[in-house]
Order: sequence, then C-alpha cells, then structure tokens
Amino acid sequence: MSSPSAIMGVHENAPATQTRPGAWPNGGKSVDTKQDIPLGLCQCGCGRKTTISPFNDRKWGAVKGEPRRFVQGHRHVPSERERLWARVDQRKADECWLWTGAKTAHGYGYFRFDGRLRHSHLLVAEEVYGSRPEEMETRHLCGVKLCCNPAHLAWGTRSDNERDKIRHGRSNRGSRQGQAKLVDEQVRAIRRGRVAGETNESLAREFGVSGQTVCDIIKRRTWAWLDD
Ligand SMILES: [Zn+2]
Ligand SMILES: [Zn+2]
Repeated sequence: MSSPSAIMGVHENAPATQTRPGAWPNGGKSVDTKQDIPLGLCQCGCGRKTTISPFNDRKWGAVKGEPRRFVQGHRHVPSERERLWARVDQRKADECWLWTGAKTAHGYGYFRFDGRLRHSHLLVAEEVYGSRPEEMETRHLCGVKLCCNPAHLAWGTRSDNERDKIRHGRSNRGSRQGQAKLVDEQVRAIRRGRVAGETNESLAREFGVSGQTVCDIIKRRTWAWLDD
C-alpha cells in the first residue's frame, strides 16, 4: 500500500473503508511512517536496518545518535496529488472541506500543480470528476470559496456561476477590493487579445488600465492562478 501507484489507484480500486468521494485512504496525509514498524528498521517496510544519524537534520526528521527512519532512497516522496489533498481539511461528507494552503487575494485556494498555479478547488474537482469540460467553470454550490469538498463542487457555465455568486451574496458587480479591479473574464480577454496580436498599449486603453498592469497579466506576474 505504500507505493505511489497503490495510492493513486484509489479511484479505480477504492478500498471498502473509503466512504467519502475523493478521500485518500490515508486521510490525505503524506505517507511517511507506518505505526507497526519498529524504529531502527526502514519505515518503508523493506525490513532493512537503518544507520545511526551522526547529526540532527530537521528536514529529514533525523535525530543525532538515533536510527534514521529510512534507508537512503527509501523515503516516500509525496506526489503532487498527495500534497494537494494534504492541504484539504477533509471532514464529514456534508461539511465544507476547507483549503488550508495558500490563498489568492480573492480568497480562493491555489496550488502549484504540474508546474502551474491553479485554483485548488478546480484541481480537486478535476481529481474527482475528471478534466474540466471546455467552456465550463467550477461552481461552489455551498458558496464557500475555500471549500474543496467534491460534493460541494460542480461544473457549470459562467452564468451558473454568476447566479451562484448573487445567491451567495458576493457578486463581482460593484465592490471589489484593492487593486483587483479587473474581473476574471477581462483578464482572460486581455490574454486572448495579446495572443491574437494586440499590443499591450491598445489592450491597456481598451480596458482602462496601465500598460504595466497588462504586462503583468500577460507575463503571469499577476492573476497567475487564472485559467485561460
Ligand atoms: Zn526501505
Ligand atoms: Zn462547501
């Protein structure tokens, strides 16, 4: 059960104990040590003895004079998917599962996955429901931006999402704080315009922002988490 493929195979081969959609068999925590393996033997379960650590090493959890937890190279390195789930506070099926990792200025979770910054609720939805269908957005049925409970997430159209936002009382129209004047769709339009050959200057004029703002959007120094 400790191999990454066994962990990733959870959707195809869900164990009987799995009760929640998207729940990892180990609760989303990184597979680090097994309770039943005595200290001094490699915690991966290979049965080999580990060496005594000559120094403290916080990164690897080594204590000077005590046996290392793993034979070199045997430590389980958590996959991106495990690290993603480890940041989701998985609770009862009907509760909100809040994201505990990094947040955007707009209060959504984000996570670097496959080399790109993306919304964590979108990543969770894709984990559970498969790739996001074209032209679809992720809806938060519960209205809680940080919620990553797959049961509270659904694909929907932009107008579904707009209606959700109005229903949950956090419409983009009117008050949006600080420097985040541009709504998501405008940022997407700026990026599309640039791909289509428009200049930063003309886009800046069209959207009533500075050339620097457009440049930052194109270079993904800002709005890096926003999907195209
Ligand atoms: Zn081992
Ligand atoms: Zn929720």
